[in-house]
Amino acid sequence: MKFCALLACKNRDVKNKKTSGIKHHVFPSEDAIRGQWISFVNKFNRTLDWTTKANKGAYLSEDHFEKDLYSQSGCLVHHAVPTKDPNLLQKRPLR
Ligand SMILES: [Zn+2]
Repeated sequence: MKFCALLACKNRDVKNKKTSGIKHHVFPSEDAIRGQWISFVNKFNRTLDWTTKANKGAYLSEDHFEKDLYSQSGCLVHHAVPTKDPNLLQKRPLR
């Protein structure tokens, strides 16, 4: 089972059948791009030290990528960086 790394993401709700067809993308191996994915996760999870090392098998769901970052075959383009705010999907109370 793949989980989105963003805690506020509605796609983490596996009981919701509507989300079962959602694509999940593995973190890129290229440092420069992976770094941007990681800062995106830290920003929205309100963490500073989230890493892919500590979270093996981390994914981001397709909802965080603009539609134009997908090729015609439906694959995420090589340099794609997540930008879409998960707080639009589900509100999470401030602690
Ligand atoms: Zn997600």
